[in-house]
Amino acid sequence: MVKIISVLSVFLKYLNKQLYKFILFLDSRIISSTNDTKSSGTYYEPFRKFSVDGEPILQKIEQLNYNDLLNEYYLKHNKLLKPVSRRKPAQLNYKGNCPLCGAPHGYIYENNVKSQQLLCKVCNHTFTLNKDFLEKIILRCPHCSKKLERIKDRSGYIIYKCKHKKCSFYLNKLNKLTSDELKQYKKHPWKFKLHYIYRAYDINFDLLDRDSMADLNMKVDLANIRHSKHTLGLILTYYVNYGLSSRKTAAIMHDIHQVKISHQPIMNYANSVSAMVLPLLENYPYDLSSDLCGDETYIRVKGKKHYIFFFSDKIKKIITSYQVFSKRDTFLRLFLCIKPLRKKYAKLPEKLKVIVDGNPIYNAAWAYFKSIKINFDLFQVVGLTNNTKTDKDYRPFKQVQNA
Ligand SMILES: [Zn+2]
Ligand SMILES: [Zn+2]
Repeated sequence: MVKIISVLSVFLKYLNKQLYKFILFLDSRIISSTNDTKSSGTYYEPFRKFSVDGEPILQKIEQLNYNDLLNEYYLKHNKLLKPVSRRKPAQLNYKGNCPLCGAPHGYIYENNVKSQQLLCKVCNHTFTLNKDFLEKIILRCPHCSKKLERIKDRSGYIIYKCKHKKCSFYLNKLNKLTSDELKQYKKHPWKFKLHYIYRAYDINFDLLDRDSMADLNMKVDLANIRHSKHTLGLILTYYVNYGLSSRKTAAIMHDIHQVKISHQPIMNYANSVSAMVLPLLENYPYDLSSDLCGDETYIRVKGKKHYIFFFSDKIKKIITSYQVFSKRDTFLRLFLCIKPLRKKYAKLPEKLKVIVDGNPIYNAAWAYFKSIKINFDLFQVVGLTNNTKTDKDYRPFKQVQNA
């Protein structure tokens, strides 16, 4: 019986390999057939290149006093500054004072109805009721000193943009466009990145640490289970090492080892063992090299697509980070960069190398870490063929990881 199973297992592995080759073959056919449709109007469009534009100017808003300002106005103009005369008072939704100088509500009017921008007549400052103003920080473009506009709130970061048409950054980029590109730009401006962009990260390290330990509670106390340690070892071998389902593991335990167990205790055992093992893996003093490699793939958890991220030490062959997420966003990727960096090294190596795929979001992560003085060199292996020296030099490491 054992022999039949081992023969079957070898045969299944062989089948699996052949199937994988077949999928690769199909993949290449699908790609070439999509390339063939070039004449019918579809064409390959390259990704917009990701770039990091340097730090903005941070300006702390000084708290002004509206009484002083009103006095100044009186001395200068020899008359009192009158509150805003409203034709339709109900139109102004904002009921508070000026957040910058404290001027009463009567001095505030709507400067831009669409963007809900308000203007204070006393201090002449505009403001919108968002987080920036509450934090009393103004972000300014380092090229033209104009106020940056908050354009998008993404998970984990906020994007600011300098929309000023006379900004030297924008004008420089505009001048560098070829006439063809310029035509394209006029037609599809979103395909080009000409304006200064700044990403402000909003990362809560405490939250990350808490999340990383997950909600692993032991479902059963392993000291009190009715099976022997040997049986537990067998169950885990089938369920974890061989990746069999809990029901199949239960069937094998019964058919081959004559141990009667249903699928639920198997899942409970695995859960308890993972809760026990996790802190050991997390806190083990690994002797890591200075070369890390990251990759992601997807798996199905209860029929739903989930993303699994790995970071590994390519020289010591140790997986330094492994997490499954239901969503795929920057925050998670950043998190996976942070985790091995912060937890696994007692002291960060001076020349830390991180090898990842071509996803531009890793550049954002790199820029973020640079801003908090965690420096590493980022190497990106792009696509499936070696087009650059980085691809050629570092692809083998990524392949080691995939294996
Ligand atoms: Zn004011
Ligand atoms: Zn600018």
